[in-house]
Amino acid sequence: MATVQILNTLSRELESLEPREGQGKTLSLYTCGPTVYAYAHIGNFRAYVFEDLLQRHLQERGFTVRRVMNLTDVDDKTIRGAHDAGVALADYTRPFKEAFFQDLKTLRLLTAEAYPAATDPEQIALMIAMIGTLMERGHAYQAEDGSIYFRIASFPGYGKLGRVDLANQRSSQRVASDEYDKEAVADFALWKAWVPEDGAVGWESPWGKGRPGWHIECSAMATGLLGETIDIHCGGVDNIFPHHEAEIAQCECVGAKPFVRYWMHCAHLMVEGSKMAKSAGNFFTLRDLLDKGWTGREIRYALISVHYRGALNFTMDGLAAARAALGRLDAWWERLTETAGSEMEEETPDLTTEGFFAALDDDLNISSALAVLFETLRESNRKMDQTDEGTLTPAQARGLLNWLARVDGVLALEPEATATIPPEVEELATARAAARAAKEWKKSDEIRDQIAALGWIVKDTKDGQKITKS
Ligand code: AMP
Ligand code: ZN
Repeated sequence: MATVQILNTLSRELESLEPREGQGKTLSLYTCGPTVYAYAHIGNFRAYVFEDLLQRHLQERGFTVRRVMNLTDVDDKTIRGAHDAGVALADYTRPFKEAFFQDLKTLRLLTAEAYPAATDPEQIALMIAMIGTLMERGHAYQAEDGSIYFRIASFPGYGKLGRVDLANQRSSQRVASDEYDKEAVADFALWKAWVPEDGAVGWESPWGKGRPGWHIECSAMATGLLGETIDIHCGGVDNIFPHHEAEIAQCECVGAKPFVRYWMHCAHLMVEGSKMAKSAGNFFTLRDLLDKGWTGREIRYALISVHYRGALNFTMDGLAAARAALGRLDAWWERLTETAGSEMEEETPDLTTEGFFAALDDDLNISSALAVLFETLRESNRKMDQTDEGTLTPAQARGLLNWLARVDGVLALEPEATATIPPEVEELATARAAARAAKEWKKSDEIRDQIAALGWIVKDTKDGQKITKS
């Protein structure tokens, strides 16, 4: 059986993904979600698309993936945004949460098992309980301002993920640290004591009114929903330190070791040499690009088609290349559908199609996987161009279509389904289904041509006919 290998940020080595003893083929996956103070930009979506590819490929390989993604709906930025807008925190973040869920659909991202929000009362309670345990065990202390800090000197493993030299950390952060009342500059806040700028935002705790720090939010939500040890934890490289480092420290001082078995991080989406970021102002939201006429599937293609650890520079030319590649795939898909006609028997063509999945087993090597896809496209198109020997038979075309359906389970790039199929096309499709049921193949093909003349494509899939705009 194929094994999936991934580069574990913790060991900096390729490792085989294996479920834990007694877990069957189930893997838990925690992915850091958006801070909902604005629309997510497509740099954020590079991370989410990479995580979606990972989940889909694992599912193709027979794993059950239990994925949780958090929503950070309380932090400095959300509080500032709500304050400036003059609304309550929940009213400020709600539209951004809703927009995020719409964006997930537009980009065809699989839905996670849960999307806990940091302000959910049960999550706040978990955070307070975790901080309480850290206090009891001497891993945390209350500073004069009332805030609670994690004492990194109490956890020898601190720095193991980011491979951070704490001596340097200290000197480089000395200036910024003057404002803090901490034992050591690298100590991070678990609970931030309420200050007047927080307005109505705050929860009661054994250490006074305040709010959780960002790192404890993820630690509590991850372990609360997925258990003390999580199989895979993902995010962008900017999350490695200090966010994920802090998550490890908090969780391993409270619960099981290790907190996470495999850490995976994607490289940044860049714009002219810099990370795409809200703070840098060099970002596009998904909506910006949809308004410019790009589709969710084109943006998905542009984000998915470069290896997750590789440099990806965002350009409009990149989107145009995605559009062109999808156009070739669509034309091929349609041609295979025509060649397969009513043939239902499938024959595996003599092409190296399994290589697609094998490439993804190798740390999600999407470039090699897409090379297999396009090589298969070229070869089978060449065969379909021929009229004599070497022609692709309908059964082989059916075999390729079935393979393509599997490939698409991972890539999710099939043509946009559209909700507004005109009634005459619907009627023709119903008549075609009836013709096929009666094995009237000629009639069914004629109706397909009539549908095509109206600008629609009908495809036969395992789940019946699918109609898309041509
Ligand atoms: P944030 O909303 O800033 O907490 O980010 C949410 C997720 O997006 C995190 O996993 C980040 O690592 C990731 N992220 C942010 N900016 C980028 C970028 N330019 N490229 C790739 N991932 C990013
Ligand atoms: Zn997180």
